[in-house]
Amino acid sequence: MRRALILLTLLACSVILGAAAAQAAPENAVSAAARARIVIGLQRTDQAGEVARSVDARILRRLVALRLVAATVDEDRRNEVLARLRSDPRVRYAELDRRVRVVPPLIGRRLQLPLARSSRTPNDEGFSVQYGLRDSGDSDIDATNAWDSQTACPKVGVLDSGIQTGHPDLKSNMWTNDGESNNGIDDDGNGFVDDHYGIDLIQGKNSGKDPHGHGTHVAGIIAAKGNNTRGVAGVCWKAKLMNLRFMDSHGGGYTTDAATAIVYAVRHGVHVINASYGSYKPSDGEKDAIAYAQRHDTLIVAAAGNDSEDSDQTPSYPADYDFDNIISVAASTSSDKLASFSNFGNRSVDLAAPGVEIGSTWKGSDYRYMSGTSMATPFVTATAAMLRKAGDGISYTRIRNLILNNVDRKGAFSSTTVTGGRLNAARALADI
Ligand code: CA
Ligand code: CA
Repeated sequence: MRRALILLTLLACSVILGAAAAQAAPENAVSAAARARIVIGLQRTDQAGEVARSVDARILRRLVALRLVAATVDEDRRNEVLARLRSDPRVRYAELDRRVRVVPPLIGRRLQLPLARSSRTPNDEGFSVQYGLRDSGDSDIDATNAWDSQTACPKVGVLDSGIQTGHPDLKSNMWTNDGESNNGIDDDGNGFVDDHYGIDLIQGKNSGKDPHGHGTHVAGIIAAKGNNTRGVAGVCWKAKLMNLRFMDSHGGGYTTDAATAIVYAVRHGVHVINASYGSYKPSDGEKDAIAYAQRHDTLIVAAAGNDSEDSDQTPSYPADYDFDNIISVAASTSSDKLASFSNFGNRSVDLAAPGVEIGSTWKGSDYRYMSGTSMATPFVTATAAMLRKAGDGISYTRIRNLILNNVDRKGAFSSTTVTGGRLNAARALADI
C-alpha cells in the first residue's frame, strides 16, 4: 500500500535459486548495449513525435491513455538525452524504462498426485495439502466457509510472466477475446496481435504462453479449476484469468510494458490485477498507470517482496506507492507466523496471506510447491475478485475495506503489517 518492497527480496531468493532469474539478457532487451530504453511523459501526446525527434529518440510504443511513450536512444547519450528532456516544457518527466522482476519464489518439490483427500471441501486430489485454504488449523483464509456462499469470480488480470493457458487445471478458467485468434494478425484491430488470452508483450503475438512458470503458479492460486477431481483448487473455482505477459523467460520486464498491460486490462473490464513483481526503484510511468487504474475503479494487489526488509524503511514498487488502490501483501506460514523471507512494515504492508510451500499449477501441465510473497498475493487478489462478484460490482474502496477490516489478527503481524492480521476470505464475504 504505502511504502514497500521488492527487488532485494529477489536477490536473496535468487541465491537460493542458483541465480537462475538474474542472468541472461532478456528477450526484449533493446539491441543489447547499443540502445537504452527510456520513458517520456508528455504534456500532450500529439507532440510525441517532435519531442522524440528533438533528441533523436526512436519511439517504441505510444500509451496515449497515460500520455507517455517508450523510446530508445543511444546508450552513451542517455544521460544527456534525459537531462535535455527534463528541461523541455513539453515533457512532464523523463526516466529510464525501469526493469522489474518477478518476486522470485523459492521453488520446492513437485506435488505428488493423487494425494489422499482430506463446511465445503472440493474433491481436487491435492486439496489436502493446501494449508492456505483448508479449515483445519487457524492459518488458512477460511476458504471452505467462503465457498458456502461464493465459488465464482469475475475477470482477474495476472500481470506476470504469462500463463500456461492449456494447463488442464486452468484452461477452462481463462478469459478469451473472442474477436481474436492466434494467427499472427490483429484480427480485432485493437493494436495488439493475437491477444486471444490477453497480451504477450514479450513476443508481441501468440498470447497464452509462460516459459518461466511463475505466472502459471500465481494463476493457479487464484483460479485453478475447483472441484474437478484434478490437481489443486484455486480460491476461485471458476474465474476468467486474463494473461498479461510482460516478463520474459528469466522473469524480468519493463515498467512501460507493465503500464501497457494495466491499461489493456482496464479497457477490457478487469477490476482486480495481481502484481507479484517489483523493483526497489520507483517509476513515474508506473505511477501514471496505477493512477489510471484508480480512476477506473481497479485494484492492484502487490507482493511486498522476499528480502526480509522493513518496507517502511526500504520501499518496494509497485507495492509501496502511496495509492489506495494498491494492497501490499506479506507472506504467512502454516503456523501463522511471518515467513522468514517476507518483507514487512506496519505503515506500508497491509496484511499477510499464506505464502510458504504453496502447491499450485506449474508450466508443462505440472504442479509445484513454491514459497514467496508472490504466492501470498494471489490469495488476496482472488478474494478481492470474489468480493467484487458477490457484491455485484462494488468499488475497489469497498473491497479494500472489506479485506482489511476482516483479517484474523495475530501477534506475529501486529507490528509487521498495517492491519495486524492475515487474510480471512469468509469473514470479508460475510461482511458485504
Ligand atoms: Ca487484437
Ligand atoms: Ca483442480
